[in-house]
Amino acid sequence: MANFETLDDLPGDLSGKVALVRVDLNLPMQEGRASDVTRVKAVKPTILDLSDRGAKVLLMAHFGRPKGQRHSTMSTSMVQGDVERVLDREIMFIPEVMGPVVDQAISILGDGDIGLLDNLRFWPGEEANDPEFAKGIAQHGDLYVNDAFSAAHRAHASTEGLAHLLPSYAGRAMEAELKALDAALGNPDRPVMAVVGGAKVSTKLDVLQNLVRQVQHLVIGGGMANTFLAARGVDVGKSLCEHDLTDTANRIMDEADHAGCTVHLPYDVVVATEFAVNPPSLRTCNVHEVQPEEMILDIGPQAVEALGDALKTCRTLVWNGPLGAFETPPFDTATVALARTAAALTQDGSLTSVAGGGDTVAALAHAGVADDFTYVSTAGGAFLEWMEGKELPGVAALTR
Ligand code: ADP
Ligand code: MG
Repeated sequence: MANFETLDDLPGDLSGKVALVRVDLNLPMQEGRASDVTRVKAVKPTILDLSDRGAKVLLMAHFGRPKGQRHSTMSTSMVQGDVERVLDREIMFIPEVMGPVVDQAISILGDGDIGLLDNLRFWPGEEANDPEFAKGIAQHGDLYVNDAFSAAHRAHASTEGLAHLLPSYAGRAMEAELKALDAALGNPDRPVMAVVGGAKVSTKLDVLQNLVRQVQHLVIGGGMANTFLAARGVDVGKSLCEHDLTDTANRIMDEADHAGCTVHLPYDVVVATEFAVNPPSLRTCNVHEVQPEEMILDIGPQAVEALGDALKTCRTLVWNGPLGAFETPPFDTATVALARTAAALTQDGSLTSVAGGGDTVAALAHAGVADDFTYVSTAGGAFLEWMEGKELPGVAALTR
């Protein structure tokens, strides 16, 4: 496992020190309030740990896409109230990220107090990872903590540059994420099963290419499975299918063969002629019996049972992408069933299960098992890039 320092490597007493803490406060908003504060809850332990040790904590975050200019609607002050509610602490909003205003704020803050800097992305130096911009921020701090794994795939001043300028530490959420990812793909117990589903192969080609070299079982579900089935000569009717990618699909299956990775495609599927809740045309059939006017919207019960059996022989599961169009019942059936099997195996202690991806997180929550997986990543883009086997600049900078 890559080596990085954590809050455990910091002294117990941080009074008089200023901690610059990169967090993800890019909250979904509805009518001026966050509609989901999961991201704040995730960084709460880090913030309170540093504060309890007496550090002055300066939170750094981006909010929206202001593209290097101030926009009052994209100020981090928009989420100040939400952050205060989750932390159950008052925080001071600071409408700059460097300079005399920040100096003055720091002089007003007492030990253990928390400040919130304005949106880093108001300044072009943030996304450009401008060393002068990073230096301007760094001069206000004694140490740098990165607790925003979800931004770690970007080499920005606050996610990468600062780590070169100050003693750097992974926050608690970052630490948990890195440990979970390491247990899933870095240094996993074998055999490993990867489940890749979702709508399209084109968005996940790099993921598939990396996984066939890393895992023993690759399950392809969702709309992606249709492209792979088509590549094998199956007529998928009106299903979502990228016919231009069938050669690519065949190449991935060849690579899997060479690497000793078993690719699991469904033998049976759930089809309908219209995409609706419980449509009258709903039926389950063998993949070779799909009619020209039908769409494959989920994988079938036999396929799910076979996957459950294969999963029971595995020690590690990494999952991205639902197996079917899970938002529309009953096309959630396969996803829910496999999620519950994985959750039960995890709770029995025989499986390490790590999942991520926006819709995947929603699907696991829908199945009621999000808390029963070993780890569920809400990091989106960073999680996918990690599944692609890419080095994440924010992580690399911490693990120098
Ligand atoms: P994630 O956000 O977890 O990475 P994706 O965005 O790749 O997942 O894919 C999720 C979407 O794929 C869902 O909206 C789901 O409805 C869709 N999907 C899954 N299976 C099918 C299918 N057979 N046909 C059409 N859409 C599908
Ligand atoms: Mg998605």
